[in-house]
Amino acid sequence: MVGAGLAGLSAAESLVNAGVDVILIDAGHRPGGRTRTVRDRFVNGQIAESGAEWVDSIHWRYRELMARYGVSNEGQPTPWTTIRRWLFWDGRLVSGHDLDALEPDLFAAIERYEEATDAPAARLTDPSRPDQHPDAVYLDSRSLADVIEEMASGHVGGHGHAHCLGPAGRLLAARNSQGEFAAEPRQVSCLFVAQQRANERVEAHRQGVEVTANRVVGGTSQIAEALTRELMSRSDGRFRIMFGHRLAWLDQDADRVRAGVLSGKADVETFTADHVILACSLVPLRSLVYRTPMPSLLAEAVNGLGYGSITKTAVQFDRRDWKSGYGTTDSVSQRIYESTVDQIASDGGPEPGILMAYCGGDGGARLAASSEDERISSIADDMRRVHGMNAEVKVLGAFSRAWSAHANYGGAYAVYEPGQVTKYWQVLRESWGRVHLAGEHVATCTGYMEGAIESGRTAAERIVSLAS
Ligand SMILES: Cc1cc2nc3c(=O)[nH]c(=O)nc-3n(C[C@H](O)[C@H](O)[C@H](O)COP(=O)(O)OP(=O)(O)OC[C@H]3O[C@@H](n4cnc5c(N)ncnc54)[C@H](O)[C@@H]3O)c2cc1C
Repeated sequence: MVGAGLAGLSAAESLVNAGVDVILIDAGHRPGGRTRTVRDRFVNGQIAESGAEWVDSIHWRYRELMARYGVSNEGQPTPWTTIRRWLFWDGRLVSGHDLDALEPDLFAAIERYEEATDAPAARLTDPSRPDQHPDAVYLDSRSLADVIEEMASGHVGGHGHAHCLGPAGRLLAARNSQGEFAAEPRQVSCLFVAQQRANERVEAHRQGVEVTANRVVGGTSQIAEALTRELMSRSDGRFRIMFGHRLAWLDQDADRVRAGVLSGKADVETFTADHVILACSLVPLRSLVYRTPMPSLLAEAVNGLGYGSITKTAVQFDRRDWKSGYGTTDSVSQRIYESTVDQIASDGGPEPGILMAYCGGDGGARLAASSEDERISSIADDMRRVHGMNAEVKVLGAFSRAWSAHANYGGAYAVYEPGQVTKYWQVLRESWGRVHLAGEHVATCTGYMEGAIESGRTAAERIVSLAS
């Protein structure tokens, strides 16, 4: 098993429970992968998430693990909305009624845009097979940028210029894509959007819940940490975990798979197994040596699937001198919100708080090109400018994490680009002999912690059924 994120750990748990011996290697030095709660950069015991932050109400697998390990929701459940509480636009912070006045029909235009992108989901009955959507080829040929362009010109739905997306509406639509898909609108297939929306609809209906989201008290990475502890404490000796071990090459025949693994202290070590699950992002898999060549379509999918960029920068200030709520900016930060709204100490007095800048798509990738210190400095300046905070408000701590700059990830999460759902969806979800892919990118709940768990369990079930 390769990768001690939620996919690899979930696969390991299912396999060990089925009586299978598992060796889990990870190139990093901690479990959890893209769940990474930062606890050591801030005062007053405050924390912030450098990776996954919210758990949706419909994400039952992750929520079951939260219940198992006594981890609770933080704050009130919040519905996802495109229209944020405020917008920093052209040097001005605009909120409430002023937002409506900023651009005629801004809210109505955004609603129409969302209706246009969400509508195709209604005809997708099985979200695990978006390639079977009746309009799969057409939808997959289009990107969110096509819909934005049409809505900006008033072309969609014959509404003339009523409810057209103006410049502020276009910015909000782009920020939504950069935030949700970690990618620019031109990089997001409309069939992928339909698949995501259909999955939400089907799960919300099946579970009888509204789609809302919460943060996690103590941080999202606790689940991977607890799963690892539980697996390591098993007395049956079926589970071994090795950090600082990087998969370098793979080889398979009809009976066995061999994996060449690099660790700091040894030359390449060879492991032999009945099966291997590759439970990591596809980006690190692109530099592996495949001694048994991959089938060409699978190789194309592994090398070609889109990955978005997200750079998250959290800055702790000594007082909360900002407008509350989730905001959108036309500046480098893209989206600013407070991570610590529900982390309030009881001693009264002025409280420190953490502002987060969530920057995706091209902007996230641009930020990734500079050093962490440079990113913190430019984002802290931007936060001061947006909220009109003067130099008396002091910075107490900060981090900036650019996921696309890390070799073990190479991006934030998968985004199926135009043409990629119809071409790559199925092949990435099939076994290649004794090699199986897991990870959020091959889930139905793509892009989420829930999908990582789902994909790990699915890969494990497949191996158990092949063995029996
Ligand atoms: C900025 C950001 C925000 C997010 N926000 C949310 C959110 O709010 N809610 C949500 O549900 N999800 C969110 N996600 C997505 C979520 O974090 C991921 O979908 C999920 O954690 C992926 O888990 P995984 O097990 O598939 O992969 P990973 O967590 O990436 O685990 C893979 C592991 O494989 C290891 N590895 C890589 N290459 C090798 C190699 N060659 N050899 C050995 N080991 C290797 C890595 O070190 C890593 O530990 C976010 C992700 C990011 C980046």
